[in-house]
Amino acid sequence: MPPQPPADLSTITLGELLRTNYALIVRCAACGHTGPADVLTAYRRHGAAARVTALAERLRCTRCDGRGGVVVSITPPAGL
Ligand SMILES: [Zn+2]
Repeated sequence: MPPQPPADLSTITLGELLRTNYALIVRCAACGHTGPADVLTAYRRHGAAARVTALAERLRCTRCDGRGGVVVSITPPAGL
């Protein structure tokens, strides 16, 4: 059975995201930089029960080094 797209972004955990292999797209609140989050690293640091919305708030932006991102979308892996 193919993985189902997540229904509600605010309730999705890192464990669920990794199980579906979807990419988590996060936008920096400070500079607007948008890109995929490093879900595997976040999973190792915060655990499977961490919610993706909480993770986005803790992420450090790769462009401006600021914190406080928001989840933009969850997208299927390339090639599917
Ligand atoms: Zn930024």
